[in-house]
Amino acid sequence: MSLLEINDLRIEYVSARGPFKAVDGVSFTIERGEIFGLAGESGCGKSTTAYGIGRLLRGPARIAGGSIRFDGTELTELSDAQFDAYRWARISIVLQSAMNNLNPVMKIKEQLIDAILAHRKATLRSDALRQAGELMELVDLPKDRLERFPHELSGGMRQRVVIAMALALRPELIIMDEPTTALDVITQKGIIDKIIELKRAFGFSVLFITHDLPLMLEICDRIGVMYAGRIAEIATRERMLAGARHPYTQGLLRSFPSLTGPRVRLEGIPGSTPDLIAPPQGCRFRERCPHALPQCGNEAPFVLEDRDGRVSCHLYAKEEAFDEAAVASP
Ligand code: SF4
Ligand code: MG
Repeated sequence: MSLLEINDLRIEYVSARGPFKAVDGVSFTIERGEIFGLAGESGCGKSTTAYGIGRLLRGPARIAGGSIRFDGTELTELSDAQFDAYRWARISIVLQSAMNNLNPVMKIKEQLIDAILAHRKATLRSDALRQAGELMELVDLPKDRLERFPHELSGGMRQRVVIAMALALRPELIIMDEPTTALDVITQKGIIDKIIELKRAFGFSVLFITHDLPLMLEICDRIGVMYAGRIAEIATRERMLAGARHPYTQGLLRSFPSLTGPRVRLEGIPGSTPDLIAPPQGCRFRERCPHALPQCGNEAPFVLEDRDGRVSCHLYAKEEAFDEAAVASP
């Protein structure tokens, strides 16, 4: 059994024109100890998916259908009180800006102690303080920073504190939504290396969300690429590095500068995403796809599943008749 099994997840935002289908039939699994990435342009539904799993949806957003199974338990059927037993203890969340995770008027020490005591009520305060010190060590922060307020730390240090908090109760899954996007490249590298080191030490799984595909290719075991509320492609890291199969993923990869390879001209993907209140029939990428076929306009994309992953695209309906070279070249 996978640690996390998402099946046909649908999340809607109420709007005056009707439900905005931000997540529209998303399915994927995360294995124990796996780093699974969710990539895609802003607005594709990747953060909304993560917020749905972590029960952080607010206001007009609601889960409209589908299943979220964590270690065999259907999370969508739990009350908020029941879900509290999972939050931080089994599933924790690191958001893009540490300031969204930290209370600005509380010392770091108090916030870490609170996180520990919230779930381990029998723990002595002195033990919690000792554990807070150990957590600081885990993320390479000097213990004297415990006495500081969030604004007295650098952005990178604050994000390390948030990661320490996320680890406090040794969860099995950590959801990270753009955890390093707000940081400079050097600080980002230090934090990513730290996350990988901690993952090796503790064996938790990560749902890693970013629009930065090259970063994802560095650290994720498998990657799901979302487009307009749906998953276009899921692929192992190896498969992605050897060549993405979905035309959208191919376009996305071409729009990033290569860190190591030769310099290439950046090609953003022309066009814009469809209206998710009244999404088009057929493939949602059709208006922007350089390989669109007649059936792409009205038939839901063919789904090919194999050991490399899953790709939703009519080009793969007849694999033998499909000329891979035609797709591989831009
Ligand atoms: Fe392009 Fe058609 Fe594949 Fe969609 S289904 S990505 S339009 S070829
Ligand atoms: Mg986002």
